[in-house]
Amino acid sequence: PRLWCGHPAPYAEQAQNGQEDPARIRTRFPPEPNGYLHIGHAKSICLNFGLARDYGGYCHMRFDDTNPVKEDQEYVDSIKESVQWLGFDWKHGEENNLYFASDYFQWMYDCAEHLVKTGFAYVDEQTPEEMHANRGTLTEPGKNSPYRDRPIEENLRLFREMRDGKHAEGSMVVRAKIDMASPNINLRDPAIYRIRFAEHHRTGNKWCIYPMYTFAHPIEDTLENITHSICTLEFEDQRAFYDWALERSIPVLRGPQFEEAKAILLQMSKGEDPRALAFMRACYQHRNKLGLSAPEKALAEILDAWSDNLGPEKLMGIRAESFWALLLTQPEHYTPLLQAALDVVRPNFFLLSHQYEFNRLNLSHVVVSKRKLIQLVKENLVSGWDDPRMPTIFGLRRRGYTPEAIQLFAERCGVSRVAGGLIDYSVLEACLREDLEGRAMRRIGVVHPLKLIIDNYPENQTETLTAPNHPQKPELGTRELTFSRELWIDESDFAEVPPKGYRRLTIPADGSEAKPVRLRYAYVVVPTSVDKDENGKVIAVHCRYLPETKSGSAGSEAVKTKAAIHFVDAKTAVKAEFRLYDRLFAVAQPDAVDADYRTLLNPDSLKVVEGYIEPALATAQPDEKFQLERTGYFVADRIDHKPEHPVFNLSVGLKENKMK
Ligand code: ATP
Ligand code: MG
Ligand code: MG
Repeated sequence: PRLWCGHPAPYAEQAQNGQEDPARIRTRFPPEPNGYLHIGHAKSICLNFGLARDYGGYCHMRFDDTNPVKEDQEYVDSIKESVQWLGFDWKHGEENNLYFASDYFQWMYDCAEHLVKTGFAYVDEQTPEEMHANRGTLTEPGKNSPYRDRPIEENLRLFREMRDGKHAEGSMVVRAKIDMASPNINLRDPAIYRIRFAEHHRTGNKWCIYPMYTFAHPIEDTLENITHSICTLEFEDQRAFYDWALERSIPVLRGPQFEEAKAILLQMSKGEDPRALAFMRACYQHRNKLGLSAPEKALAEILDAWSDNLGPEKLMGIRAESFWALLLTQPEHYTPLLQAALDVVRPNFFLLSHQYEFNRLNLSHVVVSKRKLIQLVKENLVSGWDDPRMPTIFGLRRRGYTPEAIQLFAERCGVSRVAGGLIDYSVLEACLREDLEGRAMRRIGVVHPLKLIIDNYPENQTETLTAPNHPQKPELGTRELTFSRELWIDESDFAEVPPKGYRRLTIPADGSEAKPVRLRYAYVVVPTSVDKDENGKVIAVHCRYLPETKSGSAGSEAVKTKAAIHFVDAKTAVKAEFRLYDRLFAVAQPDAVDADYRTLLNPDSLKVVEGYIEPALATAQPDEKFQLERTGYFVADRIDHKPEHPVFNLSVGLKENKMK
């Protein structure tokens, strides 16, 4: 038998075709399509797809779209694009592992109905307030709902009426019947289905009841034969319910195997099967750790009573008979025992998914929660989901991040079971720098331009200079720059009143000779005077150049300099817009502070300035990344950059930027 969702159940293949599941492990990445993915999701993507890649398995892309209210096709599309951009794929050979949880609504309904029919779920008509009040606390047990012991037929009738739209939203829910006194509050009869008259982005108005996430998720995982269901640590206390729900849904989710299990039991109960003893021993061993509920306790009592004479010769005694009788009349009540015990007969008889938890990523100076990111977008506090300051994958991409840098970051953050850590944003930036350092072409851009006039250079002359594309990688080639009488240099490379130790252009106040400074790839210059505007602001620096000092020529070392600065030739330079980005928030943990995080945005997170670039940069492709020498890594904006209007985003500076 094949699961309808497209790939074989490992057990079925092994047992019937002698073949194995092509994947040794299956993981899944299950976002809810209610926003764009962020850097926290990137970590989860790298973990899930990375594990599958490293251990010969497959990772499923699954949209967890069981909540009709907040979901949208736009989000589905952006999520697919983000995962692929990061370098991962859900297609594996013949298998296209792209799934929508909403395709499983019928399965989820069937599981819930099965729980109702076997007495493991009931329809509760308490108000939400009553339910909350009766839930108890960490130190006090909860109180049973007055509806908890309704007859099974009544529960079934009401649940079907809920499905058929006969009851109002909020009037009733279906709850698992577990234990209102459990120390784990998640096991105090959690809701599994609720009424919602909402149109779903894929199933339309077909359903007016929807499963709760905690009930839906284990079913989704098991239908897809997920072996490792990896989630964040907040779900640790949910694991018990995850297992509970699966174990009791085996007859629905693993129908063929379940029938086969019953046949094996029947055969063994006749007393001829040599595996019977091992099977019963396993039942006995497992009876305590399974958290047996009411009907199963009867079975446990038999096992207990009969434990002292579990010898082969006594096995077929009267108690053993009642054991088999009970197990066989209502096996669906005993699936935890069945599962554990059948492992003796055939390991992994019922392949059920298991949940594993890891720490969630918290990154400083941003918020990583779709709900909060949506607010920033909707309230126009950023320019959109792909605003380069956003910690979304779209935002990071537009900022100039590479998939490799993000993968490196995910690896470096690592996986642990310690909650609450905060990774500094500079760690992410270091990963980008590390990735780009070896491969980004070097170019020149002057972000804050100031005119430099070489008074002794002929007015109509232009010469061509050659500059390497990468200082350590001659194989990346060279490009040509021009040089003439008027250049643009960066404002910060001239100081009228130099701070101590300043080695770049400055004119001594005492009238002594200025120190020579090298113009990279060109000549040594000595500043001589300045032009000022009416406010006294320096608008141009005059200098003379030393013609014998051209870079690469025999005399280039003749004059010693203590600094080399960059420039572009004013004649050939192209005007460009620079978008200088910084941290989105001014504080490290905007959502840990008392104030509304929206008031903690960094007012200096974006500065737009106009500067100049060398001509080669104007023809950059959108999304092309460069190191602007002595300035930082920049990317040609993927949307706004045009040859006639170049736009470059600052991805990351050259040096670590630690912000408190
Ligand atoms: P958000 O609170 O931002 O909506 P979420 O956990 O609700 O996040 P989902 O769409 O349900 O978002 O998440 C898909 C997967 O991404 C889940 O498996 C979840 O564990 C993982 N994930 C989400 N945020 C983080 C994070 N900050 N660190 C690590 N993994 C995360
Ligand atoms: Mg979620
Ligand atoms: Mg969430």
